[in-house]
This record gives sequence, structure tokens and C-alpha cells, in this order.
Amino acid sequence: MRVLYLRQLLSTFLVSTFGLYLVFLFSNVYFFNYTPAGEPDNFAPVIEIIGGDIITVAVGTDYEDPGVDAYDIGGDMELVVDGSVDPKTVGEYEVKYTAKDSSNNITEAIRKVHVIQPAGTIYLTFDDGPSEHTGRLLDVLKKYGVKVTFFVTGRGDDNYFKREFEEGHTVALHTNTHNYAYVYSSVDNYFADLNTISNRVKAKTGEDSKLIRFPGGSSNLVSRRYDGRSRIMTRLVNEVTKRGYTYFDWNVDSNDAGGAKTADEVFNNVTSRLVLGGNSVVLQHDVKGFSVDAVERIIQYGIEHNFIFKKLDASSFTAHHGVNN
Ligand SMILES: [Zn+2]
Repeated sequence: MRVLYLRQLLSTFLVSTFGLYLVFLFSNVYFFNYTPAGEPDNFAPVIEIIGGDIITVAVGTDYEDPGVDAYDIGGDMELVVDGSVDPKTVGEYEVKYTAKDSSNNITEAIRKVHVIQPAGTIYLTFDDGPSEHTGRLLDVLKKYGVKVTFFVTGRGDDNYFKREFEEGHTVALHTNTHNYAYVYSSVDNYFADLNTISNRVKAKTGEDSKLIRFPGGSSNLVSRRYDGRSRIMTRLVNEVTKRGYTYFDWNVDSNDAGGAKTADEVFNNVTSRLVLGGNSVVLQHDVKGFSVDAVERIIQYGIEHNFIFKKLDASSFTAHHGVNN
């Protein structure tokens, strides 16, 4: 007879290098589908691949396997990692993870690693969020192991900052209110607003972000309506730099805040404007559902055409516009 308890699975296991690993389960916790001694264990181990089923890396860069989480119920589990990746040689590689429990239940998972000569680098960036679309965007990014940059505001659910950060993305600052009339009426107002969003992000991620994007970009003219002819963008660009921030604009506009109203238009705008042999900083908004809808196809297009996806950091291409005010 089978006794049903709830068992907490404590056998989470992380592999970061290749080889043979043994996983020992903790017992006596809570049981679920507990199999009494003498009865067969029919539950196969579970493997979750960390960092995407397909990973694309540029030839010549370091590759470290992000590993898997493997779980099992009852008994000891063995996890074998088979296959190797030569990041110095262009090619398609496979890494196979095999988990076997003491009752010989076997689960396999395969990761493909593409080492390519990149056609260019794509920095996907998403402004104005979080929103109700951010969760499914993060799901798509996780599926492909693509890291991006979010220029966040205080208008959505703060908890997404934590998820974005924990899933390896860059959480950068866009202002708290995104209210042009306020943030561009004075340098003090701008920094007061920036500090608010900075503190909210830090409360969720534990980190000070020094990467920013101005609402409307550094080239915006809308600030002229509110700054009393003080050329506020010129002053802000100097002041943020003095205070240790790096600001980013973009050189590939999806136009999802302009004329584009469908996922198809967003896809076409982005893919037709990608910079071959260079850097593409793509502007999208994760407050726009149709723009989020285009992301999976943009990633697939990028992978098929040998682009590398990266998140922004302080040393990345900044795609600066000319300042007009
Ligand atoms: Zn914005």
C-alpha cells in the first residue's frame, strides 16, 4: 500500500563543469508519493536546464556551462554530463545531461550550444515597464537564454525588478514618474525623480544601478516645453556623467511608441534596421503588448542570422544621439 505524504525535494543540484556527479537526497522531510521500502519507485528524476535549451556564443569568448537543476524522489540519484564545447571553434555542440535514480529511472535533457562568428550584437532594451506584459516577456527571454536591459519606471509592480535581476537581466533606470513636465522642469526635479526609482530598484535588487535612459532620449525636444529655455538636456547630460551614471539612447527604433501598432510592424522595423558587423541597441517598450509579442520572433531571427544578444553594462556601446536642447 502506498502512503502519501508530502516530500520537499531538497536534491537541487547545480552542475557547472562537466563530469560525473552523485546527488544525495536529504530524507525525513516531507513526503509526497513516498514509496515504502520494497515497492518500486516509478518516478523518474526531473531535469531543468538553466540558461536556455539553446545557447549561442561568439567564437573566441569563454563558455561555461550554466548547468541544470535535477530533482528526484527517494534514493540516490546520479547525474552524468556528457559532451563538450570548444568555444574557439565555430560549430554546433550538444551537451547531454542524464539523471538516473536508484531504481534505474532515467531522464535525459539536451542543450545545444552554437559557437558562431557573430553577424553583430543585439542589445534588446525595454522601457517604461514593468507592466502586465513583463512576466511573459521574461518567460520568452528565459526560454532562449537571452539577457536584455530594462529601463524601468515606478509605474508598475516593483516585484518585477527582483525577477528581472535574478534572471540575469540589467535593471536600469528611466525615471520614477516618466512625467516630462516634472522631470524636465529642473535639474533638481530630474534627480529627485531618478533617486526615487533608484531606491525602489535597490530595495528589490540590492544594487545601485548607474545605467540610465532619459525619457524621450537625450535628443528629445519635448523638454523645451518645460525647462524655461534653460537647455536642460545639455545640463543633464553633463550632470549625470559627472555623478557617475552612463546614459544610453538607441540606434534601432522598433517605433512601438510611434507608428508601429502590430507585432509584425515591430518585427519588421527591428530586423530591417539591425547593424551588420556592429552594435544594435533596440528600443522597445514592455508596456506594449504587441511589442512584447514580437520578441520571440526577433530572437529567432537574430539566432538564425548569427547575431549575439547581450545586456548593457557600463562599458557597452551607448548609441548616443545628438543633444538638441
Ligand atoms: Zn520612456
